[in-house]
Amino acid sequence: MRIQCDCGSFQADLTGFPRNSPGRLACYCNDCQAYLEKLGRKDLLDAYGGTEVIPVYPSEFVIASGKEHLRCNRLSRKGLNRWSATCCNSPIANTKANFPWVGILHNAYRAADPQALDRLGPIRSRIMGKYAKGKPPFEIAERINFKAMMSVLPFLLKGKLFGKSKPNPFFKEDGTTPISEPKLL
Ligand SMILES: [Zn+2]
Ligand SMILES: [Zn+2]
Repeated sequence: MRIQCDCGSFQADLTGFPRNSPGRLACYCNDCQAYLEKLGRKDLLDAYGGTEVIPVYPSEFVIASGKEHLRCNRLSRKGLNRWSATCCNSPIANTKANFPWVGILHNAYRAADPQALDRLGPIRSRIMGKYAKGKPPFEIAERINFKAMMSVLPFLLKGKLFGKSKPNPFFKEDGTTPISEPKLL
């Protein structure tokens, strides 16, 4: 499976997809909303302020081109690393050092293949509903409920067990320094 930024300058291959992915998830938290607003990409939020993310393991994320376009954004000094492609201002993925998780945003799948996500079926879990806007017609956990935990826990445990957090193309050799200087939004 290949993902890319809107313009296609940045591309990456997902070598374990869809086998090694917990599938489609959506987060309605303050930070995810603030990030896309500050990036100027509110158009990628759903009608209730949700950000759809489809995670893969870091060791199964292989950059094919455009690595130089990746920028690390943060909402606070020690915040989550939220990567975007500067060529066309596309958000790509969220990462944390030493964590078996690259949370790729939905637009990166759709830019490469408009039907990529339809083939995965519906969104499996939605979290942080306390920040959702309006009256969503579907169930969103207030914060993180048991169902949401169970949709990602097996993925995280397997990732830890099989060392899937390394190598991580978003970090330098030490595994904790982002490959581009974090920019505070
Ligand atoms: Zn681009
Ligand atoms: Zn969030």
